[in-house]
Amino acid sequence: MSDVTSFLLCNARLVDGTSPTPRENVSVLIENDRITQVSESAIEAPNATRLDLAGRTLMPGLIDCHVHVVATTADLGANAQLPDSLITARSTRIMRDMLMRGFTTVRDVGGADRGLQQAVAEGYFEGPEVVICGKALSQTGGHTDYRGFYDERDDQYQTRRLGSLGRICDGVDTVRRATREEIKSGAQFIKVMANGGVSSPSDPIDFLSYSVGELEAIVEEASNAQTYVSAHLYTDEAIRRAVLAGIRSLEHCNLITLETARLAAEKGAMACPTLVTYEMLKQEGAQYGLKPDSVAKVDDVRLAGLESLKIMREAGLTMAYGSDLLGEMHRHQSEEFVIRTRVLPPHEVIRSATLDAARLLCREGDIGCIAAGARADLIVVDGNPLEDMSLLTGQGAHIPLIMQAGRLIKHQLQ
Ligand SMILES: [Zn+2]
Repeated sequence: MSDVTSFLLCNARLVDGTSPTPRENVSVLIENDRITQVSESAIEAPNATRLDLAGRTLMPGLIDCHVHVVATTADLGANAQLPDSLITARSTRIMRDMLMRGFTTVRDVGGADRGLQQAVAEGYFEGPEVVICGKALSQTGGHTDYRGFYDERDDQYQTRRLGSLGRICDGVDTVRRATREEIKSGAQFIKVMANGGVSSPSDPIDFLSYSVGELEAIVEEASNAQTYVSAHLYTDEAIRRAVLAGIRSLEHCNLITLETARLAAEKGAMACPTLVTYEMLKQEGAQYGLKPDSVAKVDDVRLAGLESLKIMREAGLTMAYGSDLLGEMHRHQSEEFVIRTRVLPPHEVIRSATLDAARLLCREGDIGCIAAGARADLIVVDGNPLEDMSLLTGQGAHIPLIMQAGRLIKHQLQ
């Protein structure tokens, strides 16, 4: 007997987003946490636990490149004031639910710290692998400055609060130091708020945030640390400025023009649209704590969403999957698949949460694919998502099997 834990999945229909048609009759061998063989002919593995998928769809574990696991309510200012203990407790449930929807990796773009990441890795609760940036950097009055007009609290009040998505820093030297502090604390990339936002009180959507000099300093510090910068962006002017400053991961991008999308593609940047959050903020935001000022701003970006996807596709700008949901609205995480399929080919929508997401995370070949050498993160779907994307919604109801790093998280194959 070998002491390797191995599984042989056979008779799978493989859908990974790289082709408009599935690969049929695929067998996959998993040994410990890795995929070791993928073949259309039989694989010999007498010691492996055999799971016959009977023509069900096998997919790589999904990757969501824009989440905030500490956003336990849509009122982000209030969230930032909650005790760390409560935020931790609530975020464990948020993360567990993400995994049970089939997301085996998420990129947290503001808020989560290395402690939460390590707690998942150490197995204290079930959750996706969390890729972190620490706190997002925001200028005074920017997208994570929740103080509003008459609140004169010191600008450092939120830096060390787990429930805050960001921290405030201004000036080239200070943003350099903040970038270095986040990297020192375990950030794997840097997030910067470079445009106005919906959920903050004093920054209309068209506000440009940070000077070009500050953005370039942040990019330089991140690239010195061998990583990249992600920026919160809506307007075309803000996106163009960010691309020219060397920012690689362009979040939201609702108001992008074709010309800027082409420039971004040429510079090797990628976009991460998050349409579902605007749909849900519109429908449910007020009910779950979004302030009236913020509700009024939602349509400034929501209405341009689908058009932006068409523009980015035409420009050849790669789009990764993002959801950006807050509080109770996290349960809509998988609905971004359905929304995007209104204007994009289904396999490209899937690819945004597999191969393209892995590229954005600089993890190609490791996650987001079913190939020898990749981590054994995978899901099994009843039916074919290329024909019906709603199979990925419903809190995992149509996902009878979830495997994370070779470990069965959910196993309800009949
Ligand atoms: Zn966000």
